Amino acid sequence: MGWAIAIHGGAGAILQSLTDSHRAAVEQALPELTEVGASMLRNGATALDVVEKATIALEECELFQAGRGSVLTAAGTHELEASIMDGQMGKAGAVCGLRTVRNPIQLARQVLERTDHAFVGGSGAEDLAKAWELDRVPNEWFTTERRLDELRRHLSDPDASRPHPATVGAVACDEKGFVAAATSTGGTTGKLPGRIGDAPLINAGTWADSRVAVSCTGIGERFILAGAARMVAARMELAGDSIEEAAKRVMASMPPESGGMIAVDTAGKMTLPFTSQGMYRGWANSDGDRGIGIGP
Ligand code: ASP
Repeated sequence: MGWAIAIHGGAGAILQSLTDSHRAAVEQALPELTEVGASMLRNGATALDVVEKATIALEECELFQAGRGSVLTAAGTHELEASIMDGQMGKAGAVCGLRTVRNPIQLARQVLERTDHAFVGGSGAEDLAKAWELDRVPNEWFTTERRLDELRRHLSDPDASRPHPATVGAVACDEKGFVAAATSTGGTTGKLPGRIGDAPLINAGTWADSRVAVSCTGIGERFILAGAARMVAARMELAGDSIEEAAKRVMASMPPESGGMIAVDTAGKMTLPFTSQGMYRGWANSDGDRGIGIGP
């Protein structure tokens, strides 16, 4: 069977603030980040391993807003969240309210593997990261000058600031035809401390089953209310939609400019729809189809 991978680095009103140098950096990073997962799939890795490693690479890349370079809460701190789901096992791991865990997606994977739970938050999640000796860093380590600037602008005029992409994710179909999805984020600029978005919520921001894997990005509250990621799978199962129809209809069911999603089915078919100005994205498959995109 053929393999396929898609990644995203957030969707939103990204074009108006995109400088030439930032565009050049993103255009260089996206193919490299896509290749992290593609090379693993070429060598027979499982979809679950691939989405975890691809998301770690995205978390480590400061250009995208998860891990270092995450956005700040209204209190000027970072609260990170992530989730991962394996379609073959039908198991998920999710974490939220993280302050010191360098790679939230790694902790989510460990929750999936090592506990009977699907979702662990706050100090309990931090304690697990400590016990399992995952990399931890001071909260300020996640801060970059760019995010501080965005927070200052947001706090001085919350109405003027448009939603900024603040999420990364990956979906993959491996050569055995199993799919998995992962999503990781700092949330939204100036969010209330304690606010939880769609990214760590299985069903809303992340979903994978025996048909399809989905990772979402955009205005989290809307994706939560739509149950967006799971709804793509439900439309395929119950309405007989193709992956493209299902993803497009779920995006269309939310208000304009809500964001976007990436999805792959067990035949390796991918779709990457968005209703916002743009979505940082990359994709590759075993047929040699590969590419990146920012705007429409
Ligand atoms: N969905 C994320 C959240 O609401 C943000 C984003 O994807 O831009 O936390």
